[in-house]
Amino acid sequence: MRRGKQIVQREVTCRQFVGLIGRLRDGELSDVDRRSFLQHRRECARCSDYLKGYELTISAAKRIAEDSRDSSETVIPRSLVNRILDSRLKNRSGS
Ligand SMILES: [Zn+2]
Repeated sequence: MRRGKQIVQREVTCRQFVGLIGRLRDGELSDVDRRSFLQHRRECARCSDYLKGYELTISAAKRIAEDSRDSSETVIPRSLVNRILDSRLKNRSGS
């Protein structure tokens, strides 16, 4: 068995990036994953933009949750986040 030099490309695609955001929030990202995540954010304007929108959405949703002060735990359903981001994208396409 040959163990040649293994070149592991940890390049993240845009689709993977979106998936990593959720895992980052959950604290499930390894150092390696986090590094590729940050690298992709630096190199991809679209994903960097997406992440900004995501963070805005999260903080907005948190404020709403704090206002309703019903839940001690601030858990934002991913479906809600997706819905808000989706409408943001739709708004942008109109000129
Ligand atoms: Zn990207």
